[in-house]
Amino acid sequence: MEYIKSKIREVADYPSKGILFYDLTTAFKDPRALHIIGWDLSQLYRDKGVTKVVGIESRGFIGGSILAFELGAGFVPCRKPGKLPADTLRQEYAKEYGTDVIEIHRDAITPDDIVVIHDDVLATGGTMAAAIKLVKSLNPKKIYVNFIIELSALNGRAALPDDVEVTSLITY
Ligand code: AMP
Repeated sequence: MEYIKSKIREVADYPSKGILFYDLTTAFKDPRALHIIGWDLSQLYRDKGVTKVVGIESRGFIGGSILAFELGAGFVPCRKPGKLPADTLRQEYAKEYGTDVIEIHRDAITPDDIVVIHDDVLATGGTMAAAIKLVKSLNPKKIYVNFIIELSALNGRAALPDDVEVTSLITY
């Protein structure tokens, strides 16, 4: 874990003043860190019968794809509005300024699925809470939620429902 941490770049005042941005591109470009991230993520879910990993656009696509591959599960993208070509479900959520929307294909998850929803960073939890609502409305058997990084000072877990198990590799 210390090795991964040493490869995460901390960028002050990005994207706006006062935000400390945890940049995972420097970990993803390092072969050993990428390997450890993929392995450690998959170890959390090895015996859970996971059938689909949902990745949140866009940084959640990287870890989500690796996790799906490692688990022998399918990958499902949760995307910004207008990006998915077929019939979608949409969910609005509050951001610091205004609202945002994410979408998922209506046929992406079925009731026999066991799902991990993955994003790179848990900050306020607004994005993940919206993704959970979308996935829940498709009635899978079980939903797990996973992050590479959790920013505990922002208490994002409080924004997530109690009936999903949340794991993160690294907590700051
Ligand atoms: P939130 O909805 O507040 O939990 O924000 C989560 C999304 O914003 C994730 O998809 C992250 O990629 C991104 N994000 C928010 N804050 C940070 C941060 N300090 N460092 C890196 N990514 C962040």
